[in-house]
Order: sequence, then C-alpha cells, then structure tokens
Amino acid sequence: MSFMEQLKDGLSKTRKNFTERMEELVGASVELDDDFMDEMEMILVAGDVGIKTTEKIMAALRKAAATRQIKSPAEALPFLKNYIAEMLKTTGPRMRFKGHPSIVLVVGVNGVGKTTSIGKIGHQLRKEGKKVLFCAADTFRAGATEQLQIWGKKAQVDVIAHGDGADPAAVVYDGVQAAIARKADVLFVDTAGRLHNKTNLMKELDKIYRVIRKEIPDGPHETLLVLDATTGQNAISQAKIFLETAHVTGVVLTKLDGTAKGGVVVAIKEELGLDVKWIGIGEGMMDFRPFDPQQFVEALFETKKED
Ligand code: GDP
Repeated sequence: MSFMEQLKDGLSKTRKNFTERMEELVGASVELDDDFMDEMEMILVAGDVGIKTTEKIMAALRKAAATRQIKSPAEALPFLKNYIAEMLKTTGPRMRFKGHPSIVLVVGVNGVGKTTSIGKIGHQLRKEGKKVLFCAADTFRAGATEQLQIWGKKAQVDVIAHGDGADPAAVVYDGVQAAIARKADVLFVDTAGRLHNKTNLMKELDKIYRVIRKEIPDGPHETLLVLDATTGQNAISQAKIFLETAHVTGVVLTKLDGTAKGGVVVAIKEELGLDVKWIGIGEGMMDFRPFDPQQFVEALFETKKED
C-alpha cells in the first residue's frame, strides 16, 4: 500500500465525519443559502476544526458565495479544500538541524505517543544517514526508559538512560555529553508529561533547557509537542499549557487513524500558530510520516467517485 493509500485509510473515520457529510449536504442542496451555510458550519465544528477556525472558514465561504466566486453548493467543496490547504501551509523548515549535535526535545502528556514518535523519527533519520541518539529523560513514568530502549533497538539507535526515578536533568546532561563525544547529528530527548502538575512540569523543563544550553547555547533546536488526535479539541487545551512552559517549535500529531477528529489539524495551525511537522497513522514503524498539507487535504477530500 502506498503512503497515500495508507493515509486515506487512516483518515477514513475523519472523512466519514467530515467530507462525506459535506458531500451529503452538497447533494441535498440547490443553493448556497443560509441553510446550506448553517449546516456546513455545524459539520466543521463537529469535525473538531474548532470554533474560531470554523468562523474564519465560514466567513471566507460566505464571501466567496456573495462575490459569485462560487456559484453552487458543488463548488463549495473544492473551495474549502483549497482554502484549508492554504491554511495548513507550513511556514518553517520541517526540522531545524543547525547544531552539532542538534537537540530535539520531545514533550507531551503521557500516552500521546512521545516514545513511539521518537522511535519512528529516529529510525527515518538514521536511514537517511544521520547519526542519531536517544535520551531517556522520562524517568517519571514507570517503564518509559525501557520502552524507549525497545524503540532504540528497533530503530538501531543507541539510548542514553539512567532508569526510572533518576533525575531527568542528569540524564539529559549525559545525553548531551554522549552526543558531543560520539559526534551525533541529532539527540532526541524524551521527557515526562506531568500535565496534572504544571509547576513540576515547568520546573523540570526549565532545568532541562538550562542543562542543554550550558553545553549547546542555541539548543534545543526543536521542541516537538506530541498531541493525540483522538482527543480532538482537548489536544488544543493541552497544547496551550505546554506553550506556556516550553518553547514549542512544532507538533507531532499521532493516532490520526482510528479517530473522526482529524479536523483538529486545522485548529492546531490556526489557533496555536504551530506547524504540524509529523503525523502518525498507526502503531507500526512505517505508519508515520512528515506532514504534507497538500497530501493531507487530497486524502481528506478524496471523493467516493474517484475511488
Ligand atoms: P508516551 O507515553 O507519550 O511516550 O506514549 P507512547 O509512545 O508510549 O504511546 C502510547 C500508545 O499509543 C502506544 O500503545 C502506541 O503504540 C500508541 N500510538 C502511538 N502513535 C500511534 C498512532 O499514530 N496510531 C495508533 N493507532 N497508535 C499509536
């Protein structure tokens, strides 16, 4: 299966909840009237696009209808597809690999897929010829270190670890030292996602930033926030808390398979101003790719006729 097919497959629940409802609405409508607009608005909100983002999209759609840029319900879909693709356009580089080593800090609450994502990105980068190291600084969650070691084995990447309960800053210190000594290109740092205790989270992240910057003044070069798509708009609230504590440079959106809430991708960009850099559409090593906005909307708006 090509990645496009995999992506379409993974997005099938979101498509059902989102695009297929739009298609039904188009099929049942004759004019771009208020009823049509109200229904479309409801579909966007139900698709986890977010209220603010929905309002923006609807304003553009209404304007396009008023200026006769689109003249029928059928023309609304391609308009929305292009408009959303434009909204999702990424502004920054996929990953900032400036430093030697480049430090990538990975943050997010427990269970969103941090460890898994590190394993998968590390694997891809190693295959591209980069020397990668992992650092197991989530010492809070029992078994997190071991889990990263398992992913390290799968990805053929060495893991710097102290074990459960160790001081995360001390693990990061060793990780950075090892990355320098071994001339690694990239060091991934897994962190604990203690969202229920914001003060601790903040303290721990601050300490980690300080330890990194002492050795690598312009690091970390990326702070990736991992969000679980199945949590929909809750992912946005979670992200806002992390934005207060971490210098987030991009989002990894996991578990797009198995959720009807894939519209949250649009809210992440519009409401948080963050680029989604990678997406996860399954548990396997290969079910993980760089986020390509055009490819994403193509998969999302793929109509049944084209199948
Ligand atoms: P962490 O606590 O943030 O480090 O989360 P983990 O990396 O341990 O992942 C939690 C669970 O989510 C694991 O069972 C993963 O296999 C699963 N997972 C991660 N990414 C995806 C994804 O894209 N799709 C699906 N279906 N499951 C995923």
